[in-house]
Amino acid sequence: MRYAVLSDVHGNLEALTAVLDALAPERIDRCLCLGDVVGYGAEPGACLARLEACGAVTVGGNHDLACVGKFSLDWFNEVARAALLWTRDQLSFAELDALRRLPLTAAVEFCTLVHGTLRHPERFEYLVEAGQAIDTLTACRTLMCLVGHTHLPLFLEYDRRERRIARLLTRAGDLAQIPFTDDPEAMRYLINPGSVGQPRDGDPRASCAVIDTARREVHIRRVPYDVAAAQRKIRQAGLPGFLADRLADGR
Ligand code: ZN
Repeated sequence: MRYAVLSDVHGNLEALTAVLDALAPERIDRCLCLGDVVGYGAEPGACLARLEACGAVTVGGNHDLACVGKFSLDWFNEVARAALLWTRDQLSFAELDALRRLPLTAAVEFCTLVHGTLRHPERFEYLVEAGQAIDTLTACRTLMCLVGHTHLPLFLEYDRRERRIARLLTRAGDLAQIPFTDDPEAMRYLINPGSVGQPRDGDPRASCAVIDTARREVHIRRVPYDVAAAQRKIRQAGLPGFLADRLADGR
């Protein structure tokens, strides 16, 4: 099986389309989406439709749930809140209903999907510390836990027998092709594919992951897309200009 793992699309249809086009020749069996399909970008409805069309298994992110009153707008800064109010007004009843029905977690074969952390999925904490990673992997009942939310790609291997982090990879060069062990008794893996629609690691290209179970490899992929077009749509929509600016340098 080959899984495409996408997260934090954030209404950026240019980036999502580029990623799906790049993966199209690669025989992807299943698309997994870790939330925040909407918010920030100018085409939230079209992004929901694209993911639905490819049969993606999707969990809810803080932006998705805030659109339908299931997560408080008080948690967002001024720019994010303005974008959320705009997004909510763009979406149809059916699209809002689709967001309302997103689960906080999902399990697909050997993968558990969550936007923030597994300990408190409903709080949407940023998983940035080793302790949080170990807590999440201890709560995880499958070989891999796939997370998003930080917009930063990451691969972490936890050795359950020795109770230590065996590998932590965050640098682009280390993430291109990562072997893993298919032994859930010995290992647990935490994988963040980075953000499709609003990368924040200094590389403006869209980020996604491919998990290949036959080769036992994870690939974090970067895909160039038409940043200028996405920026133009954000400005034309009257969304905060900062949301367009930041796409240029991926910060
Ligand atoms: Zn996000």
